[in-house]
Amino acid sequence: MAILVVGGAGYIGSHAARALRRSGYEAVIYDNLSTGFRRLAQGFELVEGDIADEVRLRPVLARVDAVMHFAAHAYVGESVENPRKYFRNNVAGALSLLNSALDAGIRRFVFSSSCAVYGVPEKIPISEHTPRAPVNPYGASKLFFENALEAYGRAYGLCSVSLRYFNAAGGDEGGEIGEMHDPETHLIPLALAASAENGPELQVFGADYPTPDGTCVRDYIHVNDLADAHVRALQYLEKQHRERSRDEKGGDSLAVNLGTGRGHSVLEIIQAAENATGRPVRRTMGLRRPGDPPALVADPAKAQRVLGWAAQRNLADVVSSAWRWMEKTAQRHAA
Ligand code: UDP
Repeated sequence: MAILVVGGAGYIGSHAARALRRSGYEAVIYDNLSTGFRRLAQGFELVEGDIADEVRLRPVLARVDAVMHFAAHAYVGESVENPRKYFRNNVAGALSLLNSALDAGIRRFVFSSSCAVYGVPEKIPISEHTPRAPVNPYGASKLFFENALEAYGRAYGLCSVSLRYFNAAGGDEGGEIGEMHDPETHLIPLALAASAENGPELQVFGADYPTPDGTCVRDYIHVNDLADAHVRALQYLEKQHRERSRDEKGGDSLAVNLGTGRGHSVLEIIQAAENATGRPVRRTMGLRRPGDPPALVADPAKAQRVLGWAAQRNLADVVSSAWRWMEKTAQRHAA
């Protein structure tokens, strides 16, 4: 069975492509390399193209059985400053991709959604029943696409899974691929970089939140655990596909949270980074970053119940694998 991994040269997509291959699927990567990296797609067939390029997509879609869609802009702050960019790619472009897939006869679709669809939830941990009320254009773009998948399920029989990621982090245990963003804005790589002798200081965004130590709490999930959940989602869709009776019109659209169910504060991450590197993380206490909710922690029960999936790796695994990848990358640059 062949899967088109759209955005497979990016951070999470490249890990998912490898997980698919380990599980016996053929993964073809489709990416415009705007934020992705050719080296993350190494060893895979890479088709370069944009998600809105129907002509480029047509022949590729004709030879795959399912689509996984990772190709999105994903900086919350940037989405507030430049919503046009986010709606163009994450909404208009993504819809064009969805229509191309539908026209090619694809009926199985896995979507990278986000806990950003919940906005600032009233209750922690967050279950899938929590009302979806995004508070920034990034979250709004993800919610739009979830709605599109649901409507296409009802109208056209499309079967889909929306995976609502919490904070993806860490790198492949082999050290060959890992987190790559330009610019890097995420806490774990920045905390690790701040432990280097002449590295930039980490700024802690707010220490006056209503949390146990005053800093924001997030649910950090290892990228390979996320990748494994995509394989489970695909297996779920295959099962649905087999069991659906021929005259059944509506497709199933499932949405599940992907997190560990455990929250960690910014200060706990700093401590974990110091444990991994053996060096102090140089930091300053700064102001809150606009748009950051105090705490986001998943209730992962549905993923366990429906997909048979639960995170296997803990925070130490996340941080140490991220550190290994950073060290390898530094060695590569020095060579
Ligand atoms: N954070 C921070 N300093 C940084 C980057 C992030 O204190 O330089 C905090 C941020 O406020 C949030 C958490 O770390 O509470 C995780 O942020 P990140 O950008 O990694 O992921 P997000 O939660 O925004 O998806």
